[in-house]
Amino acid sequence: MKIGVIGTGHVGLVTCGTLAHLGHEVVGVDTDAEKIAQLEAGKMPFFEPGLQELVDEATQAGRLTFTTDIAEGARDADVVFICVGTPPKASGEANLAAVEAAARDVARNATKRTVIVEKSTVPAGTAGRLRRTIERERKDLALDVASNPEFLREGKGVEDSLSPTRILLGAESDHAFEVLCAVYKPLIDKGCRVIQTDIATAELSKHACNAFLAMKISYANAMARMCELAGADVADVVEVMGSDPRIGKDFLGVGLGYGGYCFPKDLQAFERLAASLGYDFPLLNEVARINEEAVMAAVKKVEDTLWNLDGKRVALLGLAFKPGTDDTRLAPALGVARALIERGSSVVGYDPQAGANAKSDVPELEIAEDPYEAVEGAHCVVVCTEWPDIGSLDLAKIHDAMAYPVIVDGRNIFDPKEMAALGFTYLPAGRPPIVPT
Ligand code: NAD
Repeated sequence: MKIGVIGTGHVGLVTCGTLAHLGHEVVGVDTDAEKIAQLEAGKMPFFEPGLQELVDEATQAGRLTFTTDIAEGARDADVVFICVGTPPKASGEANLAAVEAAARDVARNATKRTVIVEKSTVPAGTAGRLRRTIERERKDLALDVASNPEFLREGKGVEDSLSPTRILLGAESDHAFEVLCAVYKPLIDKGCRVIQTDIATAELSKHACNAFLAMKISYANAMARMCELAGADVADVVEVMGSDPRIGKDFLGVGLGYGGYCFPKDLQAFERLAASLGYDFPLLNEVARINEEAVMAAVKKVEDTLWNLDGKRVALLGLAFKPGTDDTRLAPALGVARALIERGSSVVGYDPQAGANAKSDVPELEIAEDPYEAVEGAHCVVVCTEWPDIGSLDLAKIHDAMAYPVIVDGRNIFDPKEMAALGFTYLPAGRPPIVPT
């Protein structure tokens, strides 16, 4: 099939590689000329494990090309996936200007019956708006609108895209369902489950999933606060909770909370959608509040331990919003950095991939190339991202390099007994603190 993918970011580029890998002829379109030039030169605009190989395979086979010209993506396309950003407005609502622009431009340039698919995360009701936009542009051509929300996780995007947990298809015509099932046929033949719904249900389901996962994380973080007050150990509490199959162990990770491009904005957009529909859903605001509280709980531990932050140096280990990515959009680490800098501390950060992005977000942040360089002379370390190589650092070497051996573990990756044996002041989230006597 001939497929256009509009937007070559974290979702769009993985989609381009995956669909070409499945045997389709794919054109990736982006308005960012620099990004397209990079892609044409064979360079990835961001770090995602396995993506370089997937894209190289597709371009070398001649099944994937890149362009800034949307007409090229729309020409002769059986289907076009819209993968542009849906950032939050000041009100928290999703800004859908790029989605509208992409759909309008595809409609103007379509040369045959094309299925225009929302892959970006959009509020329920967006497809109706898109249909009206498209009909205004093209009265001469039947164009279908459909929804195929993306569930990939950054850091595991290629794996998730090639082996999805399920494929959600929202459509209102047999033609759109048939085309989308044909797009994903190789995955469906391998046994991947397809869930077919109407469009509004597909749109709403995506927000429902993200908001629920964010709620699980905030619930675990609220348990961490409760455990700190009660003198209990949250690691055991979430073990007990997670061993109940009705709850499940995933997304009960305790610490600095969630960040990234999806959960924070999607939660807000979902709450705004609920309000616009006339449904009061304050639980969603509470999930966001607990998430902010998680960052401030770690900052408070630093402040309580170091007393005055003026003249103190704090090292952050991990800056990306989660391991496996260089994405720092709404990363909890940057919230910690900003709060500490505001309180007078100097802050140095290390991340295996995200140093440059963190520096451009928080210019006052000093970036170290190496974790041992970061902790040299630091009065406190805050673990912000649970990269495996941060979990396997030589802790004795870190102890010796620090001015004060204090670790605030924002991801609970270290063993309290080992920290006690090494003589650290160790302050995890929701677990009893280790303070040498
Ligand atoms: P991104 O910022 O990485 O990429 C968006 C891309 O769209 C950018 O390259 C931008 O230049 C391009 N773009 C913007 N307007 C355009 C236009 N009119 N025409 C062509 N290109 C345009 O964003 P992302 O992380 O890929 O997210 C895209 C959508 O997918 C969002 O709605 C997001 O919520 C959703 N989503 C993201 C993830 C994730 O893990 N990042 C997962 C699932 C769903």
